[in-house]
Amino acid sequence: LFYLAVPEISDAADGTQDTLLVRVVAEDGLDGWGESDSSPLVSLAAYVCPPSHGNIVGLRQSLVGVEVASVDDLRGVVGRARRRARDIAQVNHALAAADIALWDLLGKRLQKPVWQLLGHPESLPKVAYASVLFGVTPEDTESVARRIAGAGFRAAKFGWGPFGQGEVDDDVAQVHAARKGLGQGPRLMVDAGWAFGEDVERAEATARAIAPFGITWLEEPFAPEAIGAYAALALRATGVPLAAGESADDVRRAEDFLLNAGVDYLQVDAGRIGGITGAHAGWQLCRDLRRSYVNHTYKSHLSLAAALHVFAGDSHSGLAEFPFEGSALSMGLTSNRLPVDADGRVRAPSTVGLGVAVHPEVLAAYARSVRIEIDGSVLFRSAAPG
Ligand SMILES: [Mg+2]
Repeated sequence: LFYLAVPEISDAADGTQDTLLVRVVAEDGLDGWGESDSSPLVSLAAYVCPPSHGNIVGLRQSLVGVEVASVDDLRGVVGRARRRARDIAQVNHALAAADIALWDLLGKRLQKPVWQLLGHPESLPKVAYASVLFGVTPEDTESVARRIAGAGFRAAKFGWGPFGQGEVDDDVAQVHAARKGLGQGPRLMVDAGWAFGEDVERAEATARAIAPFGITWLEEPFAPEAIGAYAALALRATGVPLAAGESADDVRRAEDFLLNAGVDYLQVDAGRIGGITGAHAGWQLCRDLRRSYVNHTYKSHLSLAAALHVFAGDSHSGLAEFPFEGSALSMGLTSNRLPVDADGRVRAPSTVGLGVAVHPEVLAAYARSVRIEIDGSVLFRSAAPG
């Protein structure tokens, strides 16, 4: 278990400032890596906490020393670990990293890419949308949009920051700036970042006002639990599709967005919903209900690769969130980064496992020393990086 963090954490909605990595190592030394998108130390506690009773057993106790030689083994091991930690609220956030690491390890063991282990016939290219935060001013937003278009992206998403914090006209100015910077060709998505609480009228006013800029979706206008507000806005047919789901830390919550919130795009974060196993279950729901699945990824390319394997073969879901900027920790975490091709597309790697490797020097530079002690005996001590 590795807790990594930049020296100073800001209040911005920037999830790249810290992270929890899990490395699983087989008896012969072959290893796999995974990353959670969560509070790293709270998740670390879900691994190392002493048992409280049969439904609160630390994940590490369930995962160390078990055999994983097949996909069925992996699903069984992860399912049992979750079952024994069912009453730890953080369980799926935490387990995500180990689950992803196990898929990586199994792929390396069986000499196959993870997408193949999941049953996809091929890895199709997805249009990578550069995912960034709105600038403080519309001018800042426009200049970021120009950089994104200049880097060859055919889609971009702007979110959070000042959006929804002022008047409708302020929202329009920000979206106008993003569209101006991108030009008319690229797709543009807007992430309202929970700005409207449960205020359907206010969200509708902004949705109608930004519709003329050609918006692929309006994301999370409301708090994640405001399912009724999402449904009400969907019924008002503003002409702007809705996207949500990144907060789902359980497949049942993802299903709630699909069945009861009226969202057109379900966004799933493998690093929160229990890893590749949980995200793949969310993808199967979308497939069965004929909705579009989109990864939510605002972490390193380790998380991006894990996310892309989940829906690699899905020709109906052709967009992929691509972290465009972030901390040096996150941008440098993998030795290799997933390339965006000349048409602005990215795909899950076809090399074995996840297809990315953790950069040992970046790991060493950001790994924090953690020691948890009870009554003088050490429950957990972080390993030397690498
Ligand atoms: Mg979002």
